[in-house]
Amino acid sequence: MPDDFGRPASDTSPGGQNRKKERKEPAPPPPAPAPIFDAHCHLDAMAQRAGVAPTAEFVADVMAQARTVNVTRVITVGDTMASSRWCVQAAGEHPDVYAAVAVHPTEVAGLTDTDYAELEQLAQHPKVVAIGETGLDYYWDRTTPADQQDHYRRHIDLAKRIGKPLMIHDREAHSDVLRILDEEGAPEWVVFHAFSGDAQMARACADAGYVLSFAGVVTFTNAPGVREAAAVVNADHILVETDAPFLAPHPFRGRANSPYLLAQTLLTMAEVQHLDVAELCVSLARSGNTIFGLPLT
Ligand SMILES: [Zn+2]
Repeated sequence: MPDDFGRPASDTSPGGQNRKKERKEPAPPPPAPAPIFDAHCHLDAMAQRAGVAPTAEFVADVMAQARTVNVTRVITVGDTMASSRWCVQAAGEHPDVYAAVAVHPTEVAGLTDTDYAELEQLAQHPKVVAIGETGLDYYWDRTTPADQQDHYRRHIDLAKRIGKPLMIHDREAHSDVLRILDEEGAPEWVVFHAFSGDAQMARACADAGYVLSFAGVVTFTNAPGVREAAAVVNADHILVETDAPFLAPHPFRGRANSPYLLAQTLLTMAEVQHLDVAELCVSLARSGNTIFGLPLT
């Protein structure tokens, strides 16, 4: 799920189609020099935003477009029970789609023990590579912080019991997210999705062995803090993601995001990291294999 970055209030039409007609489409990004993977997207929400059904054909089209720029794999991330079920099904149907399952902090109201039992069952699927997205979101007030914290703890426990990485959503809740991780004991791998902290928090996360996943926000000129954060962490603690359909990178900002636009964010990350783009691709692929067991292609 998104921040508000990249979602102008005027974009209320399904798929933002009116905007598309108004503005010329920027040229697609150049292909990545080596295969990379999108560490966090929502294929079901992409279909919803486009006003179409989230069919296997829709997924195949998105993946085919991504492959044209060497984005060869994606992790589609659940944010409700229904979405988690859908993600597991999509991963079962497409060889290059992997899934994460969880209930987003803004959606946890009313979550039952039965739901957790089902989540645990879904999480056993061999193509489920993480528990996420979970965490804390103090920007929205649809659920209380106390409720969110209880459910965050349960997701941490689940990740540890089944031995899969934890994928964290942290919005305006940095210190509580870190404190609770510490109190519960972090799983072996923790990934901060769409990292939104500053350089100081990035260092603290990397020191704790956590991995930071950067979305299109790193390309925005009005987010210098995130860019600084991306600069101070070693490449082996970095991932890139789209969070599609949200957070499209510059110059696509405000449009519906899609995994192929990861190739755009990749360029900014390489620049910020002072790395050759190809070098960064190799590092990202290695991390994907180490953290999620995603095979290199
Ligand atoms: Zn998300």
